[in-house]
Amino acid sequence: MLKFVEINQQNPKKRKVDNRVDDFKEIYDEFIHDKAKQQSSRCSQCGVPFCQVHCPLHNNIPDWLKLTAEGRIKEASELAHSTNNMPEICGRICPQDRLCEGNCVIEQSGHGTVTIGSVEKYITDTAWKKGWIKKIKVEKEIDQSIGIIGAGPAGLACAEELRKLGYQITVYDRYDRPGGLLIYGIPNFKLEKYVVERRTNLLKASGIKFEKNVEIGTYKSLKELRKKHDALLIATGVYKPREIDLPGNQLKNIFPAMDFLIASNRKGLGDKVEKFDNGMLNVENKNVVVIGGGDTAMDCVRTAIRQNAKSVKCIYRRDKQNMPGSIREVNNAEEEGVKFLWLSNPKKFIGSEKVSSLIVEKMQLGKPDSSGRKKPEIIPNSNFEIKIDIAIKALGFDPENIPNLFNEPDLAVSEWGTIKINMNSFQTSIPGVFAAGDIVRGASLVVWAIKDGRDAAVSIQKYLQSKKLSKIIAA
Ligand SMILES: Cc1cc2nc3c(=O)[nH]c(=O)nc-3n(C[C@H](O)[C@H](O)[C@H](O)COP(=O)(O)OP(=O)(O)OC[C@H]3O[C@@H](n4cnc5c(N)ncnc54)[C@H](O)[C@@H]3O)c2cc1C
Ligand code: SF4
Repeated sequence: MLKFVEINQQNPKKRKVDNRVDDFKEIYDEFIHDKAKQQSSRCSQCGVPFCQVHCPLHNNIPDWLKLTAEGRIKEASELAHSTNNMPEICGRICPQDRLCEGNCVIEQSGHGTVTIGSVEKYITDTAWKKGWIKKIKVEKEIDQSIGIIGAGPAGLACAEELRKLGYQITVYDRYDRPGGLLIYGIPNFKLEKYVVERRTNLLKASGIKFEKNVEIGTYKSLKELRKKHDALLIATGVYKPREIDLPGNQLKNIFPAMDFLIASNRKGLGDKVEKFDNGMLNVENKNVVVIGGGDTAMDCVRTAIRQNAKSVKCIYRRDKQNMPGSIREVNNAEEEGVKFLWLSNPKKFIGSEKVSSLIVEKMQLGKPDSSGRKKPEIIPNSNFEIKIDIAIKALGFDPENIPNLFNEPDLAVSEWGTIKINMNSFQTSIPGVFAAGDIVRGASLVVWAIKDGRDAAVSIQKYLQSKKLSKIIAA
């Protein structure tokens, strides 16, 4: 270990731009065994590992790096799985620059971070290839059941943890495939679908039941589920697109980001998608503008490039240094030919029936606001016009009105509409109903959803044990 002085930082190679924009496959090559060992040996084995502190799951990073450096990949994989239900997914899509790697001590000392995410991916992908990842063997079945609403990472992590303990689990989802945004939001060039599917298939093989195409609130009520199960988890994510109130908003060919991404992901999965097949959501040969600067916007611009758009522009009101999206993804987008109009604000859509151009105004950064970020201000008389065929709005997401949708007025929500929970027990205002993931936090990250799902599982177990005990005492 401590080889960071002799060995330079090296990530797996990225595919060449010309080659990678021709398909939707992941863009990073895999580590070969020796490279993973070598890169892991750069870890300085800090007494207080800040990488671990800043990983939401508190993954035991220094220890699995040491095991990898010693070639003990099976043990490294077991250790990685002890705190994370999907290490290969986090290794691929966590914004490591803001989490573990951003806090690596050797990064701070100017040697370049240990490539933690790539090693995590290598360890777990190897474990899959070698057949070390097995379905759950339940030692003793427990006659209590949990209904989980939402098959995204929060719901799946909770389901897995509770199934390991022997509980009977049913996961309900309004979509036809489990995985939530891992399947229908995040494009293949960041996370190929087989990576998600092999996880969900393993959960099915482990005895977790999946009921698909079931929207709770429409086809089944929360009350029905409360009668059927001993406890419930709401892990429905956030999907209501944030709007911008611009003149011309009603024109055709202006879409929310998820319409575009779901259509593209479904096509990749081989589905029939009417709005894509009739050309509406297919941007081939079109001038595309994406409004927004987060990860969703980056996924949209890079999807548009792969659909062979004529031009792809991204409009963001701050500058590159102040973008909310991961800088790694912004750099990837720039390499792939996306043109960023920094410090720009959309002002007006123009067109007769369909949108044909967008008026944009220039911005400058003023004094920091209460959050500490410099506030964008309009530069007077700086308007300019860009010709577009399609506009995609990627301005973030808000929660749907869950108490309304579930017809449960007693379900308390915060002023932002996220579900209120007791932060210690993950329980909502309705006894026996828990909540986790984006629907509690607001739009966040996969790694936080997994963390919440795992923590909720611990609380649900406690709740169910005390419920059982009360029944025994009463009898
Ligand atoms: C385009 C995009 C790109 C992203 N990229 C990244 C990234 O690179 N890295 C990262 O860490 N995070 C990323 N995120 C964020 C990440 O995907 C989410 O934080 C995470 O998926 C939240 O997990 P969740 O389980 O809470 O919800 P979700 O993944 O949203 O899953 C919720 C599930 O609930 C189901 N559901 C909703 N309502 C109902 C209902 N009434 N009845 C039944 N089922 C219902 C939905 O169909 C869905 O399957 C991205 C998000 C988006 C939108
Ligand atoms: S889960 Fe994410 S933050 Fe934690 S070690 Fe892995 S890549 Fe880093």
